Amino acid sequence: MRKDAPELTCPSAPCAPGATLLGTMGRDGVLSYLRTPMQIDGDFVAVARNHGPPEARMRFASPCQEGNCAQWTGDGCGVVRKVLAAIEAQGGLPQDDLQPCVIRASCRWYSERSGAACTACKYVVTDQYAVVAAE
Ligand code: SF4
Repeated sequence: MRKDAPELTCPSAPCAPGATLLGTMGRDGVLSYLRTPMQIDGDFVAVARNHGPPEARMRFASPCQEGNCAQWTGDGCGVVRKVLAAIEAQGGLPQDDLQPCVIRASCRWYSERSGAACTACKYVVTDQYAVVAAE
């Protein structure tokens, strides 16, 4: 991470102690956002993992790892790019009012793609493979 850059937050981080719980996925496939930040600890992680991969049911936030993340493209986050490209290829989404979000001010995705990232964010499942395997 560059020393002169503000630290940005990844909105699709692993479930790990110190991460912030961003929200929970509803049965309708839409994330329900928390209104107040909740930092998780080791006990939370252990209990959550008892019910399968937490990243398939919840979303977590933690500092963007930039060059230490497999999704880093060199100048931005490849996840938000892929998600928005897939949505645009299917005709896009209606632009809703921005949902409440506890990390927007520092969010990597918002900093790169503004409100379009927020419109897509609510549909993103961090661990899609676990969701597919459970279906
Ligand atoms: S590059 Fe993207 S996926 Fe990787 S840590 Fe940063 S925001 Fe998260």
